[in-house]
Amino acid sequence: MATIFTKIINREIPASIVFENDKVIAFKDINPQAPVHILVVPKKEIPTLNDIDVQDSEYILAMYLAIKDIARDLGISENGYRIITNCNTHGGQEVFHLHFHLLGGKPLGPMLTF
Ligand code: 5GP
Repeated sequence: MATIFTKIINREIPASIVFENDKVIAFKDINPQAPVHILVVPKKEIPTLNDIDVQDSEYILAMYLAIKDIARDLGISENGYRIITNCNTHGGQEVFHLHFHLLGGKPLGPMLTF
């Protein structure tokens, strides 16, 4: 069964898309945790970071290049931003289709407290 992100890629459900090419789509998170909160998603259903393979390298590179362009276009490159990939239970992953969260638009504070 297609992931919710594949349904966004296929335009089966709506999203606020900010970037797209043949390898990557990026859209606003439905529940933003910062003034800028974009999800950067490969156009391949890789469930978790544990599942990436060297054959996926062009998708991984495309995700980083997309982040660079999106950050520039949204005006957060200079001040900076954070990217996060959650993996499995301890990482708090909810959608099992690899993605980066791109967060910015204000100082984000310490990465984690525990
Ligand atoms: P995860 O916890 O898997 O790293 O992050 C999944 C993210 O997807 C969450 O931040 C959640 O708000 C977002 N999300 C879940 N469903 C949808 C959706 O249908 N549309 C959009 N735009 N974001 C979604």
